[in-house]
Amino acid sequence: MTERSRSAIPIVGAGIGGLAVGLALARAGFDADIFERTTRFEEVGAGIQLSANALLVLERLGVFGLVCSASTAAEAVTLRDARSGKAIAHVPVTSREGSGYLVLHRADLHRALAEAVASEPRLELHTGVELTGLSADGGRAVLRLKRDGREFERAHPIAIAADGARSAAVSSLGLAPARPTGRVADRFVVDQGAASPALAASIEAWLSSGRHIVTYPVRGGRLLNIVVIGPDKTEPPSGEALWSGLAAPLGEALRRARYLGRWPLLSAPAKRRLVHGGALALVGDAGHAMPPFAAQGAAMAIEDAYVLAQSLCLEPDPRLALRRYEAERLPRLARLRSRVAFHRFVYHLPRPFSFARDAVLAMRSPSSLRD
Ligand code: FAD
Repeated sequence: MTERSRSAIPIVGAGIGGLAVGLALARAGFDADIFERTTRFEEVGAGIQLSANALLVLERLGVFGLVCSASTAAEAVTLRDARSGKAIAHVPVTSREGSGYLVLHRADLHRALAEAVASEPRLELHTGVELTGLSADGGRAVLRLKRDGREFERAHPIAIAADGARSAAVSSLGLAPARPTGRVADRFVVDQGAASPALAASIEAWLSSGRHIVTYPVRGGRLLNIVVIGPDKTEPPSGEALWSGLAAPLGEALRRARYLGRWPLLSAPAKRRLVHGGALALVGDAGHAMPPFAAQGAAMAIEDAYVLAQSLCLEPDPRLALRRYEAERLPRLARLRSRVAFHRFVYHLPRPFSFARDAVLAMRSPSSLRD
């Protein structure tokens, strides 16, 4: 092991969380090695919404410009009845201070972070390296890694696992896994030329009983991203029947759209700790996967990254630093979990309860939208 690899902090996973934590550590003066099992990053997923909390961190990490140039700015989410298309409410997403809200392709966000990581001398990204086992106790984390079929071990005072909702780190520690929520996301994209101009520049959430559909532009407005969130019992969408009865611009866009696949929506146990054995910190979905009813999963991974690097910077004892990280993040995540549960309940309300919901939301919304 070289001097560098001994002192560099290992990070498992080069998704949004792993890359963000690498960058945050480097900006705070730490070296880090990022281990990613894939060798090629694919265009996983489609759209992502980034709220002001995430944008602030991205700005501090020096990637706001790259992210912004691939994004479309939004001011509000319009909630609509999925059948009639009628606007129910207009929910502003920018704060009073004017901080922004962007929508973009997940691959563009990932690319912006990966480019910044590649030009950061304190970071090394090792692709094709898989975490196969991990222990964290006695003040050190021991990682078992596999490259080209050969396994090797590395021991460090601390390690970071950002290996997603189906985390190998979490299962190595014998923790309860993230569970299916009974909801899935079917994702689509359609060329904006083939979609109605009514959908072109805004974020729309189309509500119906037990299901909602979110649409917004990605790739600088060239594509329309469509996510259908509904029960996992339904067949993956095929044919026209599924979209009949939807408001015209939405049904039309779905009929012309390219299906990207189905994502089961998982939820990590609410009681999961973020630090284990005093030596392993969980970041992003590995720590707190939640279904995307508040569009905050990536934002939380980005916030985790910043708080973790800040804690390591402010607290010289790494064990105390990890404790500080966990103490700061758990209450924040608990508040988000409540918001996710509330949105899930409200968005999927069946009739006649949805009529009451719509009336309440309309009263709280600017009058111009009660069309
Ligand atoms: P991941 O993106 O899963 O990355 C994990 C990485 O670890 C991957 O690169 C993987 O290859 C690697 N890895 C896994 N196992 C190993 C191993 N054993 N060894 C080495 N490497 C490994 N969030 C938002 O903020 N806004 C949104 O609008 C939004 N919309 C969403 C819509 C949908 C339909 C879904 C499903 C999610 C949405 N999210 C949104 C959530 C967001 O996508 C996730 O929370 C975020 O991508 C999690 O990032 P991560 O880095 O923690 O995990």
